[in-house]
Amino acid sequence: MKIVFHPDFLNEIDDTPAGKIGRLTPMVEHLKKIYPNSFILPKPADRDDLERAHSTAHIEQIKMHYSRLYPNLYYVARLAAGGAIECARQSINGNPSFGLIRPPGHHASGNSCWGFCYFCNMAIALLYLKEKHKKKRAFVLDFDLHTGDGNINILRAYGQKHHKDRRDYEIINPDARSESVYLEIVQEALDNARKCDLIAVSAGFDQGLNDWGDLLSVKAYHEIGLMVKEFSEDHCNGIRFALLEGGYNPDAMALNAEGFLSGFF
Ligand SMILES: [Zn+2]
Repeated sequence: MKIVFHPDFLNEIDDTPAGKIGRLTPMVEHLKKIYPNSFILPKPADRDDLERAHSTAHIEQIKMHYSRLYPNLYYVARLAAGGAIECARQSINGNPSFGLIRPPGHHASGNSCWGFCYFCNMAIALLYLKEKHKKKRAFVLDFDLHTGDGNINILRAYGQKHHKDRRDYEIINPDARSESVYLEIVQEALDNARKCDLIAVSAGFDQGLNDWGDLLSVKAYHEIGLMVKEFSEDHCNGIRFALLEGGYNPDAMALNAEGFLSGFF
C-alpha cells in the first residue's frame, strides 16, 4: 500500500475551501502515524500527461490566468495530477494507493473547470494507464458529495471518440438520504458492474458526518473501502487506487479517510 503525498500540498493553493491552509494537516498527521512507511512523493505531471485529458487552451488558461492570481497554482495542480499518475502506476504494480493530493480534479472537464478543480486528476491517471499500460476499462466510484462532471465529460467523451459507442468507463456517484441506502447503492453498482481492468475511487469526504453532506459515518467509509477492495480482488487482480477530492472539515476528513483506508488497504 502507498500514500502519495507531497509537502507542497500543505501550502495555501488558492482562496477556495479546497485550497486553504490547514485543510490537509490533520489527515496527513493522522495517516503518518498509522502508515509511517507508506508515504511516497509524486512528481509534477508533464504536458503530455495533461494533454490526454485537456485542451491546450485549457492548460494555457490555468498556466497564465490563474498563476497571476496564485503563483504556485500551475505547479501544484500538475503535482496533484502527477500524484494521481503515481497512484495509478503503483496500483498496477501490486500496491493499492491513495492520493493525498490537492487541488481536487473531478470538476475539471477537457476545456473548462469549476468547483475548486483545475486538472482532472482521475481522467489523467486513467488515460495514462490506458495509453502506457493497456488498462482499458475502469469502474470509477465517485463518493464525493458532488457529481464529478469532469470525470464523466472527459472519460465518456474519450470512450465515444475512440470506440464509437463502446463505454470503457463506468462511473457512479451514489446519492441517498440514509447511510444504509447509500451503502446498498454502492454494493449493487459493484455487483452489476461491467467487466473492467481496475477500480478507481474519486474519494471526496464532503459526504461525511460533520462535513457538508453530513451523511456517512467513519464506519460507512470503512465499509465502502472494504467493498472496493473485495471487488478489485474478485474482478481486477486487486488493482485499485483512490484520489482525494472534496472534504472541508479537516478533522472529520482525517477520521473518514482513516475509516476508508482501513477497509481499502
Ligand atoms: Zn464535493
